[in-house]
Amino acid sequence: MDSGQPNLEAFLAEADKALGSGGVNRSEETLRRYGENTLPGGDRLPAAVVYPGSTADVQAIVRAANVHRVPLYPISTGNNIGLGSRSSNATGQVVVDLGRRMNRILEIDETLAYAVVEPGVSYQAMYDELVRRGNRLMLDVTSGPPQGGMLGNALDKGAGYTPYFDHFGFACGMEVVLPTGEILRTGDGALDSTDISNWHTSKYSFGPILDGLFAQSNYGIVTRMGIWLLPRPPAIRSFHFAYDNDDDLEEIIDLCRPLKLSNFVPTLFRVTNDLYLCGSEGESAEYRTSAGRRSISDEGRRALREKHGVGAWTVSGAFYGASDAAIEPMIQRVRSHFGQSGKARYISHEEATEIAPLQVAINAFSGVPSLGELGLLKWRPGGGNSWFLPGTPMVGKVANDFQRLCRGIYEEHGLDYTVMNVCAARFCRGLHVLSFNREDEEERERAGSCYRKMAEEVARRGVFVGRSPVDFQEFHMSQTIPSFRGACASIKQALDPNGILAPGRYGIHAG
Ligand SMILES: Cc1cc2nc3c(=O)[nH]c(=O)nc-3n(C[C@H](O)[C@H](O)[C@H](O)COP(=O)(O)OP(=O)(O)OC[C@H]3O[C@@H](n4cnc5c(N)ncnc54)[C@H](O)[C@@H]3O)c2cc1C
Repeated sequence: MDSGQPNLEAFLAEADKALGSGGVNRSEETLRRYGENTLPGGDRLPAAVVYPGSTADVQAIVRAANVHRVPLYPISTGNNIGLGSRSSNATGQVVVDLGRRMNRILEIDETLAYAVVEPGVSYQAMYDELVRRGNRLMLDVTSGPPQGGMLGNALDKGAGYTPYFDHFGFACGMEVVLPTGEILRTGDGALDSTDISNWHTSKYSFGPILDGLFAQSNYGIVTRMGIWLLPRPPAIRSFHFAYDNDDDLEEIIDLCRPLKLSNFVPTLFRVTNDLYLCGSEGESAEYRTSAGRRSISDEGRRALREKHGVGAWTVSGAFYGASDAAIEPMIQRVRSHFGQSGKARYISHEEATEIAPLQVAINAFSGVPSLGELGLLKWRPGGGNSWFLPGTPMVGKVANDFQRLCRGIYEEHGLDYTVMNVCAARFCRGLHVLSFNREDEEERERAGSCYRKMAEEVARRGVFVGRSPVDFQEFHMSQTIPSFRGACASIKQALDPNGILAPGRYGIHAG
């Protein structure tokens, strides 16, 4: 009988029956591993982990969770490092690990250049499959963990660096298990037919666009997604410009903007500061001398720049074309564009292949997953890593004011300002890395307080974050207008009346 109280044992017995052998795990070791993350707020142990093997399994779990009032937290590959890893937004939820058994590439259509994937398909797995098929198609990758998943990343509004950088924007057609256990198909998939030929090719057909409901929310479990791919260009040539001064950011942003507004440069620009590039190449030489209390000195930064041949800022982008010779005139044009003030030092594609952190950029522009940037997790000992992800309009003065503001807040907190501005035409996302010693309680608190202070200050200037670590989702929701919170709560109430799906994720509760 339904008492309205959670009954974990009854839920797990039902899940065990539905999923069969190995479908439920609640060993101490497993709970510890799934609770671990790199954030300041500490680990969040789940009550159990379940491993569905099919959409029907997901439906069975969701229905049982409704009967027994048990909260579920879905993950795809669980490589959300710096945003929560595999841990749920609250302790005691049951993690639904979709990636372990639902990891098939369901389809690759080489004519229309798209793939259809289950949640466990990683960037590496898709890359390997495309290479096996002759390397005619290219996927947009992140520069994060190659084992990260295409579907989970798109749902969290992740992004890459090629013309298909917007992973949610280039996803088309989803299958979703709603919190009641019903299956929803979005886009043309909503047609009542068994043969839906446009499901993964047409984004906006009849009716409201429901896909957006499932990004950064807790309104459903996505079990299938179409993802668009690019034809692999015959030649890819990168270009890079190093600048000496922190305030050169103003000039850089104003130079990048017209090249993106006209789409002359097809990739996004990676405008990366010295520590973002050099921080992946080893631990801070100054961390132990200041016991982690001070930001790295200007001399320390200069020494790193000289060692690795990069600037206070390094701008990277790439062209695609029929051959290296066909691309050369475009490289010359971009060189004269950035050469105007005489401040930029040009680094050629060939030179960049010898500089490990710039090779990461080349890989990102080429749709090749790589491990290089994960070195950032070792810049300070103790494994602490959180992302702070605001953005600014593509106006040099505005972006530079934000740079000064955030650099100052890092320094107040004795942390090292580490950022990459990823620039599109009108907007750039500032990927800020907070590296801290997670084993040192005082430093952990400083990292949390640095995040909050920056989030408050940028919000005061009208800027919001594009994604949030689990520690700060409730906080960010509290920064929204009441009608936004109210609408999110009403949708939650309508779709998930028992509140069983990741209650509190992104600050969304039934209301
Ligand atoms: C050094 C470094 C560099 C990085 N660079 C980038 C980068 O360039 N671009 C970028 O976007 N990210 C980057 N990241 C962040 C991150 O690692 C990736 O975004 C990662 O791929 C996301 O994790 P995932 O794919 O494993 O998703 P998951 O962890 O599986 O999912 C993310 C969240 O989405 C929700 N979710 C997942 N699957 C489902 C589902 N099927 N249904 C409903 N909800 C679901 C869950 O709540 C989950 O917590 C970087 C991280 C590091 C450490």
